[in-house]
Amino acid sequence: MRPSKYERTIIMHCPICASSDFDFESEESNFVICNGCSTEYTREELQVQNSEAIEAHKNEIAQEVSRDFKKQLQDALKGSSFIKVK
Ligand SMILES: [Zn+2]
Repeated sequence: MRPSKYERTIIMHCPICASSDFDFESEESNFVICNGCSTEYTREELQVQNSEAIEAHKNEIAQEVSRDFKKQLQDALKGSSFIKVK
């Protein structure tokens, strides 16, 4: 199982103009500027504004993980002569 397959890039949206085009000043900078309406946010502010989308992605990943896990379990049991799945 490759954990990286569960990674998601979450597209942030500006709460004011709904643009997803941001200018990340630099890796070290904590400020993000919306290219749509020129509003400046901190990364935290933007994350809070997008927390619903982030939660939705987390749920989606959790569902995918449990689905994959179930399949792995079934595959593992298939090859076993000790356990009979009825
Ligand atoms: Zn904006």
